[in-house]
Amino acid sequence: MTRLKFLGTRANTDATSPYHSKHSGLLLNEKILFDLGEEEFLQHEPEVIFITHLHPDHAVFIVEDIEVEVPIYAPEESDDIEVRIMPDHVDFETCTISSIPTIHSKLVESRAYLIEGDHRILYTGDMVWIEKKYHSAFGELDLVITDGSFIRQGGRVMGDKQGNIWGHKGIPDLVEFFRPCAAHIVFTHLGKWFYGNASESRRKVKSLSREVTIDLAYDGMVLDLR
Ligand SMILES: [Zn+2]
Ligand SMILES: [Zn+2]
Repeated sequence: MTRLKFLGTRANTDATSPYHSKHSGLLLNEKILFDLGEEEFLQHEPEVIFITHLHPDHAVFIVEDIEVEVPIYAPEESDDIEVRIMPDHVDFETCTISSIPTIHSKLVESRAYLIEGDHRILYTGDMVWIEKKYHSAFGELDLVITDGSFIRQGGRVMGDKQGNIWGHKGIPDLVEFFRPCAAHIVFTHLGKWFYGNASESRRKVKSLSREVTIDLAYDGMVLDLR
């Protein structure tokens, strides 16, 4: 069995609701934490932490002086805390966690994490896209957990003359992107669009379900995969 606990599901937006007040954090099997958007997530006593990228809503130590006593893997060094540069993969107990480069920010490096244990799960963090050369690593995924920042097609993508892009893809784009390889997609990191009328927002996302189950996460949501 694989147990996933969504500790925080709010994007970097002021909008909050009681079910979406905390920034990114995903706890796997009570031991492995992906993203540390809030210091309080340390109360769960994770044994290892993987950070998708050094933005404060995923890595609170950038903006708050905190102490972390377990290994933190991140895509790049941090001036604020000691991290280990994420290698190709890390084995932890019966899981292998592999890093896949994502396109998200002009200024920071970003990685998705492929978790292979009893199930195959991809946690992307924020993303515009993943380069084609990495797609073969996906295989068949039991679950994708990805970026719910924008509901509109296209999301919010910026670029320069050299063809570099950064920002966030929209939820409809990510559904299309992951549909061929995923049985189930959960959107977390919910942006401003979500908070006005949450049940209408859920309906909008659910309407994109075709051949794939789509859900929206909330703070404290537990997902048991069997
Ligand atoms: Zn973010
Ligand atoms: Zn970000």
